[in-house]
Amino acid sequence: MASSTAKTDKSVFFFGGGQAEGDPKRRDLLGGKGAGLAEMTALGLPVPPGFTISTEVCNAFSRDKRMPDDVRAAVEAAVARLEKTMNARLGDTAAPLLVSVRSGGRASMPGMMDTILNLGLSDTVAEGLARISNPRFAYDAYRRFIAMHASIALGLSKEPFDHALDEVRGRVAESKGIDRTLLNAEELKRRVPDADLPAEELRALIPVFKAIVKKETGRDFPAEPREQLWQAIEAVFASWNNHRAIVYRKMHDIPDAWGTACNVQAMVFGNLGDTSATGVAFTRDPSTGEKLLYGEWLPNAQGEDVVAGIRTPMPIRSQGSGGARAEESLEARMPEAYRELDRIATTLEKHFRDMQDLEFTIQGGKLYMLQCRGAKRAARAAVRVAVDMVREGLISKEEAVLRVDPAGIDQLLHPTLDPHAPKKVLARGLSASPGAASGHIVFNADEAERRAGQGKPVILVRVETSPEDIHGMKAARGILTARGGMTSHAAVVARGMGKPCVAGVSAVAVNYQSQTMTVTVYDDAGRPTENITLKKGDIITIDGGTGHLYEGAVPTVSAALSGEFGELMTWADAARTMKVRANADTPLDARTARAFGAEGIGLCRTEHMFFEEERIQAVREMILADDVAGRSTALAKLLPFQREDFVGIFREMRGLPVTIRLLDPPLHEFLPTEARQLDELSKSMGVPVQKLAQRTKDLHEFNPMLGHRGVRLAITFPEIYAMQVRAILEAAALVVADGIQVHPEIMIPLAITRAELERTRTLASEIAAELSASGKTTTYSFGTMIELPRAAILAGELATVAEFFSFGTNDLTQATMGLSRDDAGKFLPAYVDSGILPRDPFVSIDQEGVGALVKMAAERGRKARPGIKLGVCGEHGGDPASIQFFFGVGLDYVSCSPFRVPIARLAAAQAALRSRGQNGGQGTA
Ligand code: ADP
Ligand code: MG
Ligand code: MG
Repeated sequence: MASSTAKTDKSVFFFGGGQAEGDPKRRDLLGGKGAGLAEMTALGLPVPPGFTISTEVCNAFSRDKRMPDDVRAAVEAAVARLEKTMNARLGDTAAPLLVSVRSGGRASMPGMMDTILNLGLSDTVAEGLARISNPRFAYDAYRRFIAMHASIALGLSKEPFDHALDEVRGRVAESKGIDRTLLNAEELKRRVPDADLPAEELRALIPVFKAIVKKETGRDFPAEPREQLWQAIEAVFASWNNHRAIVYRKMHDIPDAWGTACNVQAMVFGNLGDTSATGVAFTRDPSTGEKLLYGEWLPNAQGEDVVAGIRTPMPIRSQGSGGARAEESLEARMPEAYRELDRIATTLEKHFRDMQDLEFTIQGGKLYMLQCRGAKRAARAAVRVAVDMVREGLISKEEAVLRVDPAGIDQLLHPTLDPHAPKKVLARGLSASPGAASGHIVFNADEAERRAGQGKPVILVRVETSPEDIHGMKAARGILTARGGMTSHAAVVARGMGKPCVAGVSAVAVNYQSQTMTVTVYDDAGRPTENITLKKGDIITIDGGTGHLYEGAVPTVSAALSGEFGELMTWADAARTMKVRANADTPLDARTARAFGAEGIGLCRTEHMFFEEERIQAVREMILADDVAGRSTALAKLLPFQREDFVGIFREMRGLPVTIRLLDPPLHEFLPTEARQLDELSKSMGVPVQKLAQRTKDLHEFNPMLGHRGVRLAITFPEIYAMQVRAILEAAALVVADGIQVHPEIMIPLAITRAELERTRTLASEIAAELSASGKTTTYSFGTMIELPRAAILAGELATVAEFFSFGTNDLTQATMGLSRDDAGKFLPAYVDSGILPRDPFVSIDQEGVGALVKMAAERGRKARPGIKLGVCGEHGGDPASIQFFFGVGLDYVSCSPFRVPIARLAAAQAALRSRGQNGGQGTA
């Protein structure tokens, strides 16, 4: 919108006395903090007056390396106005004005630049302040100011100031009879908090602090408040370009051109005695969303004491604050200030129509507001707050749907650790697949399967996993690997299975020989403290949402699809236009998928069915057969199994469409690789080991991804697909006979030519005709995956045969980018970290490249066959940013793992709502 970026002449905006010059909507000019202060002032809330110097001044300062002249005059005028409002003057000893100088950009950038408090103090002003208030307060404020100004505006280290303060603390400790030599600095701070340091000691600290400044800078600490003020303002603006800030912006996609604003505000004092205090609050509980004022406070404290952890802060509310601490609550100690805060919280929520995060200070019993902003909240809280606010009439259902981050709700769909349970963290790795799980440690897949078969929960611990481990991963409650990244085999497979996984825990050393793992435990400072060795059968807990490994069993709480979450999802479904299906290979997956709201199966992989115990034997016979007859005999054994699988899935899906992909992987994947297994197979099949070894060698491929797989198998061995089509159609006939509707969609993988599709379609229709002749009539549709660039380019051709396309975006990404997912772990993270690629293309679709192929194929497909059904079945089908993109391309559905179905439903709803907002031409500011 043009107005929100328009240049303004005004650079300094005053706020105070119920009026604010700045327009709170201009966060681009005032920064988030300045906008909040202006807004609260205009609402008539108690905000200490002050002024905001705009982000444009920061930009001019960055460019010219000096403060523009007109800004100097404007700031002087604002200071004069502030002095008048406060009836006090900077540098005045009888009525001194003290101010804070606070940075604050458009987006919050925590830790980039600290705030300077109590600016305006000098020796004479401090003496004056001591006379009109009290000496302890005056010198406390003065020593805080020197240390903050020195570190923030003059760039000195905090360390010598902290050290000098600790010396004083030590002396005070001794005078109290505490043996300081037994305490480290942290304990000393707890035993002798700042509030216990007497006035005389603080006063004696001032010359020490000033001497540090002189020694480090070669200059005296500035005694002139005007000089202090300009140093502080320039330091705020200069901080925009410090290294830390630049790195932070890069990481969070914040443009360098935004700049920060600078807020100069009259001080109010929370450290003025026992009727003064400082605190932070949320208008609702940020972890549960419950509608209750929530937060912490400290009496006789200033600024960031609450979050600095020097003293343990106390709860704001009495209720739910844990019995003994109820009488320490703000509600109990300062009931009037508490009620005022509660009232203000309600006012602000009504005004902003969102949950707020507040900073406040109480001076002599009177409450002042120092900051408000939209509160960060846990996923659970986000859902509850959005739904409650609809019920309270604050927001519409559509807004509620848009308020919840789809990526965040992943947490809610998996079991999570009971937040109140005691737990000991052993190590940390990558949060590869969310959810928490406890179980007995096992070090190999067979063992995992065996123990799980006995009903024992197990965690599979491996250095890395490989396709050989699939059955063990399936049997385990969770997976932990010592090596590997977010796109490692373990991570990808676990996410697909919806199973907790912590990958790349480098502090864990796995020893398969001794069946043990050794964990090196580190302290907060990164120093190794102990080595713990765990053996097979010991119990551990992993949290794939945080990447933590815990000792023993930590209780979990399970996912809730009901209540507020369920309600929000019905609103999402009402807004949504794109369908959401699930990738499901078994009746159990199908049931989970339906429970999560899937509207069909977008990808049913048949090869998983080949791996099961009784079938793999027949599969191997088929592979080892020398001719068509031999293959057909083996396949005939498989047919009843496949038919049974499909019957189960069709029954679960009750008339919803089911897309079945015919066999895709290269055949060698079904043969054993280890000598021991080859031996066993040779015995059970009565085939010499040499023959097996030879066949394995024959099937070996240099690049199996680009080898004999997908439809290419059907061109050489058509009887495999023939068996599968027969199994599908017979299953459908059986289920239809029971009065249940069935919509099978037969899907050909890896096709790149029209001829491949014509051949396989003919094969399918011949079988259908044969069955129909024997009275088993069912309908099905025939389509193809689009997973190679040639298929996308020739989509028009393929659409003359295929009735639907399903974009296999995993393979399409690999093939388009020439990037093997299994090998990318070595370099892809570096590409993403350095910004060469915006995101991992296996997680979020590469819109410019792979996405362009999807778009083109969709267009060409539709042109050749109007109304062709289009969907996505790659992992991208569960990624919110990719879903937004697919919505834009106009696909009919996305399909993802069952556990991601709710995420996809929400993301699809948001995509639809956003596009409606745009089409209506009334984008919200
Ligand atoms: P941050 O962005 O790091 O939160 P702030 O500018 O909000 O930094 O300042 C941190 C804290 O300093 C505030 O929460 C408040 O407690 C204190 N503070 C800032 N300005 C004032 C003021 N004018 N009077 C009293 N305390 C202040
Ligand atoms: Mg801070
Ligand atoms: Mg703050």
